[in-house]
Amino acid sequence: MRTKFICGNWKMNKTAKEAEEFIKDLVKNDFKDVDVLIAPPFTSLDAVKRNSNGKIYVGSQNICKFNDGAYTGEVSGKMLKEFCDYVIIGHSERRTIFSEDYQTIREKILRAFENNLKVILCLGEEAEVREKNKQNDFVKEEILAALDNLDFNRDNLTIAYEPIWAIGTGKTCSSEDAQDMCKFIRHTLSKLNKNESEFIRILYGGSVKGSNAKNLLACPDIDGALVGGASLEAKEFLKIINYKENI
Ligand code: PEP
Repeated sequence: MRTKFICGNWKMNKTAKEAEEFIKDLVKNDFKDVDVLIAPPFTSLDAVKRNSNGKIYVGSQNICKFNDGAYTGEVSGKMLKEFCDYVIIGHSERRTIFSEDYQTIREKILRAFENNLKVILCLGEEAEVREKNKQNDFVKEEILAALDNLDFNRDNLTIAYEPIWAIGTGKTCSSEDAQDMCKFIRHTLSKLNKNESEFIRILYGGSVKGSNAKNLLACPDIDGALVGGASLEAKEFLKIINYKENI
């Protein structure tokens, strides 16, 4: 019912030339029953799009909260739409290192929707929140701040649950905990949009690699993965895409 979605977030890695080589290599493979996306830095969006052969969705890692004007260094939704299908919003690195608050994230979602970009909204708690067993309250608040009263649906929204303590640390959330949270997220979405929650894809992110993808992706409410480090190596990323074949 929900096609699995494997997304690579390259963060601030790879030049346009490196991106081109990677994508040319990746599209030599056939992807079965799975959607694949790469979110490169802005400077490689064109290289990824040109070489994707219609096999790979292209995503941006950021979007400006304004539509156009005097905003030095920013890139608008209209500009991104020339290259992208998707935009990642609310990644924990944007929330923490670049101080993006709830209001900013909501404005970015609005700009994405206005420009017909699909949003991959990242949510997730810090270690201290999970230690206190408050992760559901925390994630619920993030969902409401971002999506309450917005016109989201299965087509324009994907959620990525990314516990901050699991990002880039090698510590993966257990499949059971990841499943529990993704189920909780779906339940929370159902309160905002009853008709769409069963169809919206919810990804897990946080130290996903070839060796743990199969267990995570076997969970009923986990519809894919948002992959950082392991998406930089074509061989490792392919193992995740082909998770069904891996033990
Ligand atoms: C991420 O940055 O979204 C991520 C999940 O990173 P990693 O896979 O490296 O933990």
